[in-house]
Amino acid sequence: MNIIIFGPNGSGKGTQSELIKASFDLTHIESGDIFRGHIKGGTKLGIEAKSYIDAGELVPDEITIPMVLETLSDVTSSGWLLDGFPRNVSQAESLLRSLSESNTSLDYIIEIKLERGIAKNRIMGRRLCAKVPNHPNNLFIDAIKPISGKCRVCGSELKVRADDQDEAAINKRHDIYYDVSAGTLAGAKYFIENSSAKHINVDGTQTIEEIKQSLLTQLHR
Ligand code: ADP
Repeated sequence: MNIIIFGPNGSGKGTQSELIKASFDLTHIESGDIFRGHIKGGTKLGIEAKSYIDAGELVPDEITIPMVLETLSDVTSSGWLLDGFPRNVSQAESLLRSLSESNTSLDYIIEIKLERGIAKNRIMGRRLCAKVPNHPNNLFIDAIKPISGKCRVCGSELKVRADDQDEAAINKRHDIYYDVSAGTLAGAKYFIENSSAKHINVDGTQTIEEIKQSLLTQLHR
């Protein structure tokens, strides 16, 4: 089963990707993660990509497209979940062409929809439990609101992640995502219109569990 997932930063895309990957035993291909691997390994590609990534810009298509398409063609598991690509129309075109040339079927396109202001609040409202970092706490999500300023699960102190408070960086990423003429939403629209894969729309305001259940009932091997 092959899946593409779209969703803005702050929509819960990463969380849902982990859940789907585990449920269907898929290889999770995350373009941002491949770049981080290259940067860590000090490869030529990593060095080229780093300045764009640090500036919050997209890495040029000449670098990104071959890198992702090669990674996809190397997958040996029974399926993949592609996350972070395509991010514009030209990436969408290249991926459609590559899938068609390699006779690879795409089964689902998941799109998590979340209004920009809410996505931004979710990132800025994220709080980390000082004892157990994955205890869920968020000032702007009712279901996981901290209790009296402390971790809702264990009562420990809460911390913030510095990059979650970098409003300019969040705005820049969202500018790219929500751009319906040249950005990711433009790429997603083009891709959805030109692919025969089933399009699953998800309301990102739901809880993690609700989204998970809705996805699991709609995804079939
Ligand atoms: P985000 O935190 O915005 O979801 P990712 O972790 O997916 O970001 O990616 C980190 C960075 O890697 C992006 O800000 C961008 O610079 C680069 N990148 C990831 N995917 C792509 C892509 N498809 N095209 C161009 N650049 C990309």
